[in-house]
Amino acid sequence: MKFKNSALMLSVALATFACSKDDSVVEQETLQTEKETFQGAERAYFDQSGPIQKGSYLGLPISYENVNGEYIFEGDIIIPQDMMHSKDTKLVLENGDDPELVKSVGRTGGRWPNNTVYYQIASNLPNQSRVTNAIASWESNTNLRFVARTNQSNYIYFQPGGGCSSSVGMVGGRQNINLASGCSTGNTIHEIGHAVGLWHEQSRVDRDQYVTINFNNIQAGKEHNFQTYVQRGRDGDEYTSTLDFGSIMMYGPNSFSKNGQPTITKKDGSSYSVQRTALSSDDLQGIAQMYPNGGDEPTYVNGQYYTVNGLRVYRYNDKWYYYTSSNGWREVVYRNGAWYYA
Ligand SMILES: [Zn+2]
Repeated sequence: MKFKNSALMLSVALATFACSKDDSVVEQETLQTEKETFQGAERAYFDQSGPIQKGSYLGLPISYENVNGEYIFEGDIIIPQDMMHSKDTKLVLENGDDPELVKSVGRTGGRWPNNTVYYQIASNLPNQSRVTNAIASWESNTNLRFVARTNQSNYIYFQPGGGCSSSVGMVGGRQNINLASGCSTGNTIHEIGHAVGLWHEQSRVDRDQYVTINFNNIQAGKEHNFQTYVQRGRDGDEYTSTLDFGSIMMYGPNSFSKNGQPTITKKDGSSYSVQRTALSSDDLQGIAQMYPNGGDEPTYVNGQYYTVNGLRVYRYNDKWYYYTSSNGWREVVYRNGAWYYA
C-alpha cells in the first residue's frame, strides 16, 4: 500500500532520528530500497533503550526492556509495573486461592465495558487532531465509542512521550498512550488498537505458517520482540483465519533490523508492505467480534479452543476444560475475573 508523501517523509525522518545514535543502523536506512513502504514498528522511545530483563506477567515468564524504569515489550507496548511479578503466578486457582494472583489484559481480557472507552488529552500534547482523527476513524468503523472523561476511573490519557506506546487492553485506572511529535494519526490508530486489546499481527499463534522470522537480521537483544504472544504466555484469540499483512497492527518487514536485511519475510521469501493509514477489513472483522454491536458477551462455540484471561481452554458441552500434562483435562470455571478448577 502506498503512503502519502508526507507520511513517507515522516517515517524516514523518524527512522533516522530513532537511529541517530547508532551509525550502523543509520547506514541501514540508506540501504533500504522500498522507500514507499512503511518499514518500521512503533517504538516507545525513539532514542532510548534499556537492559532486557525477565519477569512474570499473567502467570508466565516474559522478557521485556527496562527503559528508565518503564517496562516495554515489542517496542511500543507498556506493561504496567504492578502487573509484573518476580515469579510466576498461577493461571488457574484452587478454591480459596487469592484471585488477586491473576489479572489479565489481552484480546480476550481487559476489554472496555459497554463498548465505551473514556479518554483525556493532555493539554500540552501537540497536534491533538492526531488523536481526534484517530478516534473518529475508530468510531466510524467499529462499535466502540470514545467519550471524553469527566470523573471515570478507567481511562486512556494521551500525552507527549519519547515515542509511540500504549498498554494492551483496559488496564484499570489511568493508562497512557504516549505520542512523540513524530507519531502520526495512523500510529495513533495503532496505539489505540493496543489499548482496546490488540496485540501485534505478527505475534499471532499461527504466524509461522505465513512468515519467516529472520533472527540473524534482528538487532542483538531485540529477539524477544518476535515471539508469538503464546510463546510469551500472553492471552489472545485469533478472530480471522489468516495473518493479515495489511493489518495496522503488523510490523514492517525491516523492524528491528541490524543490517538492512528484512527481519520478517513472507513464507516464499518475498517482502510485503504494511500500512498505517486505517484499520484493515480483517482488523475490523476481529474488532467486531471483540466488541460486538450492543456490547454483548462473545458466544462460545462447543468444540473450539479459546484463550480467555490468559488460559487456553476448550469449550465442550457448554463447559470449559483445561489441559496440563500432569493433570490431563480438568473442568475449570471463570468467575470474578479469574479461573478456578471446578
Ligand atoms: Zn504496536
